Amino acid sequence: MQLYSTNNKSNIVSLKEAVFRGLPEDNGLYMPLEIPSLSEDFIQNLEDFSFQEIAFTVAKSFVKNAIPESDLQNIIEKSITFPAPLVSLDEQYHILELFHGPSLAFKDFGARFMAQLMSYFNKAENQELTILVATSGDTGGAVAAGFYNTPGIRVIILYPSGKVSFLQEKQLTTLGGNVTALEVDGSFDDCQALVKKAFLDTDLTNKLRLSSANSINIARLIPQSFYYFEGYKQIQDKSIPVIFSVPSGNFGNLTAGLFAKKMGLPIHHFIAATNVNDVVPAYLHTGEFHPRPSVRTLSNAMDVGNPSNFARMLDLYCSTWNNIKNDISGYHFTDKQTKTTMREVAQAFDYIMDPHGAVGYLALKAHLNRSSNMQGVILETAHPAKFKDDVEEILGKAIEIPKKLADLADLQKQTLKMSIDFNFFKEWLIQF
Ligand SMILES: *Cc1c(COP(=O)(O)O)cnc(C)c1O
Repeated sequence: MQLYSTNNKSNIVSLKEAVFRGLPEDNGLYMPLEIPSLSEDFIQNLEDFSFQEIAFTVAKSFVKNAIPESDLQNIIEKSITFPAPLVSLDEQYHILELFHGPSLAFKDFGARFMAQLMSYFNKAENQELTILVATSGDTGGAVAAGFYNTPGIRVIILYPSGKVSFLQEKQLTTLGGNVTALEVDGSFDDCQALVKKAFLDTDLTNKLRLSSANSINIARLIPQSFYYFEGYKQIQDKSIPVIFSVPSGNFGNLTAGLFAKKMGLPIHHFIAATNVNDVVPAYLHTGEFHPRPSVRTLSNAMDVGNPSNFARMLDLYCSTWNNIKNDISGYHFTDKQTKTTMREVAQAFDYIMDPHGAVGYLALKAHLNRSSNMQGVILETAHPAKFKDDVEEILGKAIEIPKKLADLADLQKQTLKMSIDFNFFKEWLIQF
């Protein structure tokens, strides 16, 4: 497998290099040189394959000879360890539940696959790999769980003390083992600044093998295409065109869906569903892209003002607006609309959506109002219990908390308090 940078198509690297670097030096994003086509036979017979078998076939077609089959098999078995069930509300509305992993959000797919891939490539090196991650809350949990117990890798998570939720903090700080949580006496920006400084410090990079678990790493995108196939597989009546509604922030999830379509999965159309941070829906309407600072909403994992994967979307369509809007429609909604919908779906179907999924539901509904002869799959990106306080207030009733989340509350957090002084952080990293 080879990859190029969206800023310079002649800047070509191997999968291993793209995974360890994360970002090309020219500030573009890595894209696969070739998006493979899967055989029609495979796509017509998805029902014959398990989720892991589908994941293996899709991954194999991307990575080709970069990883031997038996090793790839092992990577899939260790990363795709939980299901992605499709729940049908009626004939037209289906929900693909992507929250059955350890951190209860779809980011588990990307984080686990990336961890296994890094561990595999790191075997050829004789030095331990140190992953540095700054988190404002959500990503850290998926990354911590993804890398937990991965041989040859230690993970250092920096989070702002007192500024993440109670359960988020537990997800970051209770694993132990190869995961160390640094409780930084500062803001998220201070955490990010410490990580950035570490990567620029040649003294440090000479002594340690450092990498990041950045969200735009190609290793997080590839596994996200797996569940589009898995979701499509579970649709009963495939004679009705299928559209996917994707609650979006940085647009990694939707970009992975575009990969799946290019590989041959018969997805009729995509819906880019956002909260009021709507720069992509606005682009789809007007052809103009104007990034702007994000505003805080109820669906806060989608509060993104300059979506990082937009460059990949443009690249896939050779920057041609007409082609993009043929495949993707954009809709955006307010928190008020999101809350109303959460109540309506709970009432009508006895199904509890989280605020992010509810934005996807709203967008599908808006689209089906215009073209009713279709059916849609909403990607439910997180378990509602992750947003317990908001969801309970909106629905006016208590919701069930999954055991793995409830159990966390009783675990003791283990952290190391850290000031924002870089030299102290650096010395600690070297000695640790
Ligand atoms: C990260 C996240 C999103 C947005 O996904 P992108 O790939 O950044 O568009 C949506 N919902 C939840 C719950 C998330 O954690």
